[in-house]
Amino acid sequence: MSTDNNDNILFADAEANYEDAEFVLYGVPFDGTSTHRKGSEYAPRAIRQESYNFESHILGYDIDLLTPPIMYDSGDIPELKSLNQMLKSVELSTHGVLDDNKFPIVIGGEHSLTPAVIKAFTSGKHTEFDNLLVVILDAHMDFRSQYLNLENSHACTSRRVSELVGVENVYPVGTRSFSSEEKIDSEKMNLKYLTSFEIFEQSIEKELMNGLATFNNKAPIYLSLDMDVIDPAYAPGVGTPEPYGLTPLDIKKCIDLLAPRLVGFDVVEVSPPFDNGNTSSLAAMMIRTMVAAVKTKK
Ligand code: MN
Ligand code: MN
Repeated sequence: MSTDNNDNILFADAEANYEDAEFVLYGVPFDGTSTHRKGSEYAPRAIRQESYNFESHILGYDIDLLTPPIMYDSGDIPELKSLNQMLKSVELSTHGVLDDNKFPIVIGGEHSLTPAVIKAFTSGKHTEFDNLLVVILDAHMDFRSQYLNLENSHACTSRRVSELVGVENVYPVGTRSFSSEEKIDSEKMNLKYLTSFEIFEQSIEKELMNGLATFNNKAPIYLSLDMDVIDPAYAPGVGTPEPYGLTPLDIKKCIDLLAPRLVGFDVVEVSPPFDNGNTSSLAAMMIRTMVAAVKTKK
């Protein structure tokens, strides 16, 4: 197994030098705003551990992640003692990756990190991200203006992101839970979202294609994967499990569809203390699928 100087495990097959790498991974072991099941601070390590179970050849994409290596894992980002520190560190790290023209892959941690990543996309010198569309796979709408007096809670992710890219450029997918307040605000502000029930009516390809057609169809896409979008039967180890969820194959199809336009990715909300290992394993596989899809379809 690959380890760095601090004996911290790194993601499997992330064997490229930084200079040669196209994809840069970094972990954010922070769960400071989680209220139901804490533990996502242990997810970066658990996901990296599970990543060693898989072949470097990714079936269906005709790619080997080691020939040549295209991923670099810079380990966990430092300075995570408070929510504000975490947000600053994530934004700074993402700026660095984008300035080097590499594709950021953020391993959470909780969903509160996503707005900091998006802030780096929208506040830098990169005009290619001007119309960024943010697709958020999540059981929850995360559209609260604040939660427990906290604006940057993991329950407010899509709301904060909408303030950065415009509500017309945010697309929650797999939704099956929101508060009355979120329902009112989403209607008032015209937030488009796709529920898991709508997806079950047809298929994720059809529903997602139809949905995406209502957005700018040339915009680059950032994909945020809150693992609780997947049904608890497949992904039991998450902070806030929600029944009536998508299947792992739905997520793979979604990744395949978005891959040609993807410019960044995060996977969040895995809670290893509540997992039997399979949720971390699934998260690791989805990172690998996303890399294979972007590398071969872009
Ligand atoms: Mn979320
Ligand atoms: Mn969620």
